[in-house]
Amino acid sequence: MFRQIHENPDIYTVPVVLPNNPLKNLNCYIIKTPKENLVIDTGFNQPECLAALTEGLKELEIDMDRSTLFLTHLHSDHTGLTNHIATAKTRIVISDVDYNYLKTQHDENFWPWMEEKFYREGLSRDLIELQRTVNPARAYAPEYLFDADTVSDGDTFQIGDYTFRCLWTPGHTPGHTCLYMEKEKILFCGDHILFDITPNITMWRGVEDSLGNYLESLKKIKALDIRLALPAHRKNDMDVYERIRQIEEHHARRIHQTLSIVREEPGLNACQIGARMTWSMRGKNWDEFPIQQKWFAIGETISHLDYLMKRGLITRHDEKEIICYTANQMTN
Ligand SMILES: [Zn+2]
Repeated sequence: MFRQIHENPDIYTVPVVLPNNPLKNLNCYIIKTPKENLVIDTGFNQPECLAALTEGLKELEIDMDRSTLFLTHLHSDHTGLTNHIATAKTRIVISDVDYNYLKTQHDENFWPWMEEKFYREGLSRDLIELQRTVNPARAYAPEYLFDADTVSDGDTFQIGDYTFRCLWTPGHTPGHTCLYMEKEKILFCGDHILFDITPNITMWRGVEDSLGNYLESLKKIKALDIRLALPAHRKNDMDVYERIRQIEEHHARRIHQTLSIVREEPGLNACQIGARMTWSMRGKNWDEFPIQQKWFAIGETISHLDYLMKRGLITRHDEKEIICYTANQMTN
């Protein structure tokens, strides 16, 4: 099943179902030209995703030998099926930053490091154990690291008569990259801007301030001339500039909420702070969150704490086994 994007007769979207995932589906975008094609993102490494994607590619008669596969970012719901759909002749393109991060994720020390980090931020050993099998970043990732052509901010490439500019938009992942068709004023946003859910901003190994980076990347997109913004999940039913404003407001509220919690109860750890924040998990309280959602929520809480730390508003106390946070005195 596919759908044509009406604004441009050569752009199609194939909805790839993401089973049991709150994101519901991935929009795989396809640009079809007589000689070559562009496929953007893949879906998880799961049989249901593979079935939906291969059906869409078949219906559109996409020859992967004559296609470029562009991966907006390293997340498994965008890269998971790369090894399944790419042929030896497919050109795989991803940002240099996320490709390097993917390499480190395949390193045997990566997940033990992450688990220790989350333990020190207050997550119990039991829940860490449980997360190992259900975390989609681990369970549905590509089996092995594919070869890729890496791109940096501002790089361009051609597909038929169309030019695509790579726009590095770090935040959601360290190397997240949007694709911009300047002449057509079309933006493939990946997960940088989503319209009916807020993109998850979490901590990343080696990144000091993910949220600060993300907010800067929103400004970068705001400065572009965009007629049509195509998100990687769900639908776009809103003006992109209005949506950016809403996301900025959302984070301003969350930053304020995080700081208030740290001020009111000094000495909490990130997990305890996360439990006191409001989340859009309808009807569920913190203890009822499934572990994978809790993992994301703690990551998001840490990114807000990093943001406050970087701006001198709070202090991280990491001298004990479990890290805790206190607010700094305001000087006038
Ligand atoms: Zn993502």
